[in-house]
Amino acid sequence: MTRFIFITGGVVSSLGKGIAAASLGALLQARGFTVRLRKLDPYLNVDPGTMNPYQHGEVFVTDDGAETDLDLGHYERFTGVPASRADNATTGRIYSEVIARERRGDYLGATVQVIPHITDAIKETILHETSAYDFVIVEIGGTVGDIESLPFLEAIRQLGNELGPERAMFIHLTLVPYLQSAGELKTKPTQHSVKELLNVGIQPHLLICRSERPIPEAERRKIALFCNVRPSAVIPALDVDTIYAVPLTYHAEGLDREVLAHFGLGSAPPPDLSRWQHIVETVRAPEGTVKIAIVGKYVHLLDSYKSLSEALVHGGIANRVRVEMAWLDSEIFETPDAVARLEGVHGILVPGGFGERGTAGKIAAVRFARERRVPFLGICFGMQLAVIEAARHLAGLEGASSTEFGPCPHPVVGLLTEWQREEGTIERRVGSEGMGGTMRLGAYAADLVPGSLAHRVYGGVGRIHERHRHRYEVNIAYRDILERAGLRFSGLSPDGMLPEIIEIPDHPWFIGVQFHPELKSKPFDPHPLFAHFIAASVRQARLV
Ligand code: GLN
Repeated sequence: MTRFIFITGGVVSSLGKGIAAASLGALLQARGFTVRLRKLDPYLNVDPGTMNPYQHGEVFVTDDGAETDLDLGHYERFTGVPASRADNATTGRIYSEVIARERRGDYLGATVQVIPHITDAIKETILHETSAYDFVIVEIGGTVGDIESLPFLEAIRQLGNELGPERAMFIHLTLVPYLQSAGELKTKPTQHSVKELLNVGIQPHLLICRSERPIPEAERRKIALFCNVRPSAVIPALDVDTIYAVPLTYHAEGLDREVLAHFGLGSAPPPDLSRWQHIVETVRAPEGTVKIAIVGKYVHLLDSYKSLSEALVHGGIANRVRVEMAWLDSEIFETPDAVARLEGVHGILVPGGFGERGTAGKIAAVRFARERRVPFLGICFGMQLAVIEAARHLAGLEGASSTEFGPCPHPVVGLLTEWQREEGTIERRVGSEGMGGTMRLGAYAADLVPGSLAHRVYGGVGRIHERHRHRYEVNIAYRDILERAGLRFSGLSPDGMLPEIIEIPDHPWFIGVQFHPELKSKPFDPHPLFAHFIAASVRQARLV
């Protein structure tokens, strides 16, 4: 029997609903249950693929090529369960589906309305392909009280009624602020937020209360009384030093016990939390520190690189070191001598990106890493720029560039219009699909060249699968020239047409990858590229 847990948020945004949902998933897993996590986003974009990273943060890409909300990254990192296209829906997607059905005449002349047609489509989305799981955790984006989230709240209200409390539970995440002037924690915002939920017919069964300070027993009882929940179902959630401590602190406050009691599963065995204890102990007691410079364009909003910064933390866990991240705006490297800022760092990473602005600075950072023999990891755009740097400065191809920035004499990075899937099917880019539809998205295979650094990093496996999100490709026609100049193409698509990994054999550790390895890294299973990059940086730290 599949049970559904709906998580809403109140009072303010950015309370960490995604991490709360992911942590509950991890706790239920630790009790031996299977889980699946989903997110419903109230905005009108069909997916976040077209949104500015400053607005929305990172776009998390799934194996099946969906561009999704960054919370799906938290779900994967905490539970290890790969997310899919079915696990993220937006108002825009739901409406476009309903309107397409209306145009096809599927509603047989009925007046198409928010209730029941939109709410039915939301309910279908929630229930789709869930029968194999013990628990499905559904996070509703936005804050209760927003006009936009109303259809989602109505849909989960209906589902709560249809499934009954034995199969549905409502959890509400709120804020209990501390007022300095009064010297008190305030419960009123939580009471108001629960009233908002009651207005749309939802009585939460459990409250998770974010707070900077411990919530005293009297305050817990007060919240319980006014919000109509058991005192034991008021779960304090204090700020913690690492997000990977959240499952442990939630467990200590009784979250999983309360959830299981709600579903009549109170006799489930205690959870095995050793995996989380190990991670938290390692993060809290590092044996050293390495400093990694990340040279990118969106460094002012770290949510744009959420998976990347987590993957670096995981690389640190694998090596029992703390990774100090220096986020550097690539544009600062465009003035002479600015690369001096890279002096003393133990590793340099150039992440994914789009557009020409700031590329000269990134190329300067690549050159510094190559010439000064500092460990280097280039991801997606970072690999493309590493190839451009090698073409210009190692192979002497003047004006080598990417066609992303306009025509150039040596297009070492260019637009391809078709590629082959592993099974042999051909995928084509069709120009008329608009901005969102022209990228190579999702998991693709790559074959590793035996004896290469990449092959060793991946533990000697021949074929890997990694996730992509880009339009341009390194141009295979330049392989010979670039290899003669000192670059090595160490990973290629199975048909040999698409360069997936490049490296510099005559360098302590220099790798560029066309895919996004950070999307598959987990705290309990750090991605090998990050584990080895940080290991190389640890060696570098002993040198400098
Ligand atoms: N702008 C490059 C491309 O579209 C790289 C994209 C990325 O780094 N995700 O190919």
